[in-house]
Amino acid sequence: MNGSEKSLQERIETHIAELERFTATPGRGTTRLTYSPQDLGARAYLKERMREYGLDVREDGFGNLFGKREGTIEGAPSVLIGSHFDSVPNGGAYDGPAGVIAGLEVARLFAENGTRHAYPLEVFALIEEEGARFPGGLMGSRAMLGVLSKEEFARQTDKDGVTTIEAMRAAGLDPSLPGRREQGSIKAYLELHIEQGPLLEDSGIPVGVVDAIVGLAQVQITVKGRAGHAGTTPMNRRSDALVAASRIVAQLPDAAEGEEESTVVTVGRLNVFPNGANVIPDRVVFTVDLRSGAEEHVRSVLAKTKELALAAAGDGIEVEIEDQLYIAPKRMDESVRALLREKSGALGIAHRPISSGAGHDAMIFADFTAAGMLFVPSRDGLSHCPEEWTDAAHIADAVRIFHEAARALTEAE
Ligand SMILES: [Zn+2]
Repeated sequence: MNGSEKSLQERIETHIAELERFTATPGRGTTRLTYSPQDLGARAYLKERMREYGLDVREDGFGNLFGKREGTIEGAPSVLIGSHFDSVPNGGAYDGPAGVIAGLEVARLFAENGTRHAYPLEVFALIEEEGARFPGGLMGSRAMLGVLSKEEFARQTDKDGVTTIEAMRAAGLDPSLPGRREQGSIKAYLELHIEQGPLLEDSGIPVGVVDAIVGLAQVQITVKGRAGHAGTTPMNRRSDALVAASRIVAQLPDAAEGEEESTVVTVGRLNVFPNGANVIPDRVVFTVDLRSGAEEHVRSVLAKTKELALAAAGDGIEVEIEDQLYIAPKRMDESVRALLREKSGALGIAHRPISSGAGHDAMIFADFTAAGMLFVPSRDGLSHCPEEWTDAAHIADAVRIFHEAARALTEAE
């Protein structure tokens, strides 16, 4: 590399700054909805860089973007590397783009070193991960892997009633292009993402090797008591549903505390009936949302939650529990995780295991191929806001790890 050429870190900083310009809310964070003018601007920038880095550029029938570097085996499955490039309204410049840029820079290192490889390397930039324009989220990955059929995709509408197909055509994208990827066309999946939480920054470690994307359980708890006059009912004659519910809620943090650190529990919705200032509450309905990277912890906190809720019954208080949602944690591929740990170690980059509390496209890919993710620290743990920031030096660390891992994954067996 000659002295006038930019360093890896400087190139990453440039890509972030260039992509950040494509926002519908300048000065108020990144707002880049799928198929919007800002999507088209970022897409054009990414295509240009892909071509510059020697990749064959292609879009699919959903508007996902790919840049492929062929290997020596014709028709072999690809090692995919990238992330999404849409954003939430007034979000940050790193959620998604950091991973797309990491993919681009890995491809650039392949080109720069003239790396010969058997399997193709494919950089990707997916649409609509956030679900900010169309419902459901993870739409680019669900569509390309057939979890969402082409017909279902075509039926999705935004809040103004515009269908995906209409929005694509209006943006000059072609929904008739091939979309569905066959399972055998992908050899492995790598994604870098910002952590969106404080654990890496707090521990002073630049890279997290994601072990799992958290599982989630939601229950609804109804506590029933007896209504009465707030002035005339003595304290020892009351069956106050809110007092009983409050005791349950207050014990929940302790139930999660004993588990490992990815285990979290939240009461985000609570309704009091009849909700009058001078009436003893006769009914309280609240939700408990609990998450963990390990299924045994989801189950044990769920069991503890039910146990301490039921223990509040008696003395005119009744408790009912309704299971509402259960999603098992999604493990990342063990051999890919081992490879990422090995390469981090060989490069002298400190790393630690981490669970993802947020959903990612990797959850969908994990059912189809060997999927792995790296996290890099988010300043103050902030994300989905204009203040979102990650040190480009940490993204560069992840690029070096992914470069080594991608070289190993694209080699002939
Ligand atoms: Zn994201």
